Amino acid sequence: MSQIPKTNYQLILDKTIKQLSESGKRPTLLLHACCAPCSSYVLEYLTSYFDITVFFYNPNISPEEEYLHRVSEIKRLISEMCPDVRFIEGRYDPKEFFDMAKGLENEPERGSRCHKCYRMRLMESAIIAKENSFDYFTTTLSISPQKDSEVLNSIGKEVSTATGVPYLFSDFKKRGGYKRSIELSAKYDLYRQNYCGCIFSKPK
Ligand code: SF4
Repeated sequence: MSQIPKTNYQLILDKTIKQLSESGKRPTLLLHACCAPCSSYVLEYLTSYFDITVFFYNPNISPEEEYLHRVSEIKRLISEMCPDVRFIEGRYDPKEFFDMAKGLENEPERGSRCHKCYRMRLMESAIIAKENSFDYFTTTLSISPQKDSEVLNSIGKEVSTATGVPYLFSDFKKRGGYKRSIELSAKYDLYRQNYCGCIFSKPK
């Protein structure tokens, strides 16, 4: 049986950017960010086309010292690499994450706990984007080889339909995005964590 070809979300992003460039528009984008290394390439790439505000909403990250370190690193990256980019820090209430993850603690990475975790962060991003009249929202998460862009983009689409805020489809790991994020991490001497964020993904 032949397999259904996967959607190439990089090509969809290319098309969106081309249309925006032809119309002379520079839309506002609320960019959900998980950490400084993943944001580095995405910021380098998208600041040419969008007026970006980074939104750091990650109640999944534990322990709190790790969370605080990731916040300070992303703020430092923005100030050193793209000081015109604005920054909003979301709520940090780990209970939101633990309530959401109840019963899914032993799920493997990329499993159903992760899908709910993406949805939680994308929904909050869309709500903030709507409250502040952003033209688009998206997330840096698709840059990670550990994240399924098919799942991420379909959740983004659902959240977009529910809130009415356009989702910027993307797959930032394409075109060497992940490799470039490693180069930029070295250039800016960024802290690169060895686990995704939640306590369940932390090496024992
Ligand atoms: S592994 Fe990452 S994406 Fe999955 S639940 Fe934990 S923090 Fe969220």
